[in-house]
Amino acid sequence: MLTSVTAFLGIAFSKYFNIAQTDSIAGTIIVFFVFTVAYSIIKESSLVLMDACQCTEILSDIENIAKGVRHVKEVHNIRMRKLGSYLMGDMHVVVDGDMPVREADQIATQIEEQVKHEFDEITEIKVRIEPHEPPNKE
Ligand SMILES: [Zn+2]
Repeated sequence: MLTSVTAFLGIAFSKYFNIAQTDSIAGTIIVFFVFTVAYSIIKESSLVLMDACQCTEILSDIENIAKGVRHVKEVHNIRMRKLGSYLMGDMHVVVDGDMPVREADQIATQIEEQVKHEFDEITEIKVRIEPHEPPNKE
């Protein structure tokens, strides 16, 4: 990707440089256009590169929020992804396997709302409820 961009810019620059010598105004406009295109390409690819969120502090804060909710036994697989300047993600929350669905749903909703309330940049967090089972039962 970066190689093809570099090659494209190289060709574009050498091609338009000749025009710039014959007609400086047209050359300036073309160079400006090339930079605009290059800027948007670089901006776009860096967004993709930064997709994975380097936010360990937010992740541990989310874990603490979820663990602070009543009846939550365990929290794991917290993931966050960048969406422009926003964050969205998902997590697993372990509760008693015999808990009524209604109650488990209330816990999931409470965690989602508390996390979104705590962090303005988080637009969405999906909570997956799992039953608490002894490890040998799987
Ligand atoms: Zn899980």
